[in-house]
Amino acid sequence: MSDGQDLTTGRCYVCKRTFTFDPKQVETVLIDPETRLPPGFSVLGTLRPAGPEAVGRSADEPICPECVDRTRRLWETHNPPPPRWESWPPAGD
Ligand SMILES: [Zn+2]
Repeated sequence: MSDGQDLTTGRCYVCKRTFTFDPKQVETVLIDPETRLPPGFSVLGTLRPAGPEAVGRSADEPICPECVDRTRRLWETHNPPPPRWESWPPAGD
């Protein structure tokens, strides 16, 4: 018997609040357990290419609607500049 709802309970990755969500509709973020950041983000906040092994060990973490909202607003406010690839360490000899 199903009422058409398939809700589950989890912890928001950002604020650690427990909330109920529909796993098919919830916003998630891919988190690399080694850096605690999405693959492709370095701890310095800069972007770098995400290796397949980083993506492979990463897991989707649910984000509560409040944090999604806040993150979206922050993102729009700061409008981060594009990554500077020329600062990438050159191949040494
Ligand atoms: Zn949250």
